[in-house]
Amino acid sequence: MPQAPDPSTALDAELAADLAEREARGLYRRRRIVQPRPGARARVGGREYVNFSSNDYLGLACDPRLADGLREGLTEHGAGSGAAHLITGHSALHHELEQALAAFTGRPRALLFSTGYMANIGIAQALVGRKDAVLEDRLNHASLLDGALASRAKLIRYQHADADDLDRRLAAFREKQPDARGLVMSDSVFSMDGDIAPLAELATRCRAQGACLMVDEAHGLGVCGPQGRGAVTAAGLGPDEVPILMGTLGKAFGSFGAFVAGSETLIEHLIQHARSYVYTTATPAPLAASALRALAISREEDWRRDKLAELIQAFRAAAEAHRLPLMASDTPIQPLMLGEADRAVALSRALEAQGYLVQAIRPPTVPDGTARLRITLTAAHSLDDVRGLVTALAENMDHEMDTR
Ligand SMILES: *Cc1c(COP(=O)(O)O)cnc(C)c1O
Repeated sequence: MPQAPDPSTALDAELAADLAEREARGLYRRRRIVQPRPGARARVGGREYVNFSSNDYLGLACDPRLADGLREGLTEHGAGSGAAHLITGHSALHHELEQALAAFTGRPRALLFSTGYMANIGIAQALVGRKDAVLEDRLNHASLLDGALASRAKLIRYQHADADDLDRRLAAFREKQPDARGLVMSDSVFSMDGDIAPLAELATRCRAQGACLMVDEAHGLGVCGPQGRGAVTAAGLGPDEVPILMGTLGKAFGSFGAFVAGSETLIEHLIQHARSYVYTTATPAPLAASALRALAISREEDWRRDKLAELIQAFRAAAEAHRLPLMASDTPIQPLMLGEADRAVALSRALEAQGYLVQAIRPPTVPDGTARLRITLTAAHSLDDVRGLVTALAENMDHEMDTR
């Protein structure tokens, strides 16, 4: 009998082949050790860079007031929560943050989740099952897709930002399953494109067809609307139009965690049924204290959004003057479309050599042939940072043309 190969070795051999293939296709991902510094800076390998890759849109992640919140929370509550929210992990700080988030989003209640990824998994899994359908924008964040898959409902994807296509697909589903539940899920600000979903139109179609709309405000809260109340509020929509609102605390709010806001009944249902809520340890309470500080800052310091708007305008004007391949975005997410993964990676490396961290985004995060540089602006950048970046981009792209 032939000797069976050592299973771990055989597995390693298969995995190594897969990794090599990934590398050959320019899709290999590597981490680096990064130390965030104030002023949208980051230290990597002993060198300081201007960071154009973080989602810290309001420049709060390094704000001393958030650190003070953490420290005070730590003194009162310790480093760990010790249990899930339904056991003994739910602290007064968590509770206060939930109430503040409900008020901020104009909804009766909010429920904290450990991460946005877990919130999206939990929402879909708790609300729909085998007979139902989840309808999603083609460019939705991976966590929304994974939520639909975890729910076992039928996943139907509609064309990007296309309410008519959603309408047709909803109608087709309704015809087959008149009594089943239809859950429509969309990013508000699309994470890799920076454009905003047609929220009012989505809401109208959902209402007409008896479907339920959930909007993921991971990149909208803190950034869009007065006081940073989000793209849904900025579009004039409330709980009747968008009954399920999800937001994260690790991006514009510079902290960590996520939440769902909605009706009393919705939140009670999620507490009973969302497995990613029930079966996990509550985030440390001090994080809630830092998020509370961030929320207050977002309400009080509109200058951060004014500054962002100014930087966005300056970036776009300068990039247009150099004919850089801008995408249609008014948000701090300003991608440059490059197409091939190799090209995006080469440009990202060239910028890094000049002191700028700009992430290349490749498939499968974005569709094939749409690799890009994802440039993110924050209130902590200066006009000079932005002008310097555009100059470096233009030089590198000219050079790229010359050497082609
Ligand atoms: C980042 C992100 C998430 C996940 O949130 P985390 O708190 O980082 O897990 C969910 N949805 C969208 C659109 C995101 O960009």
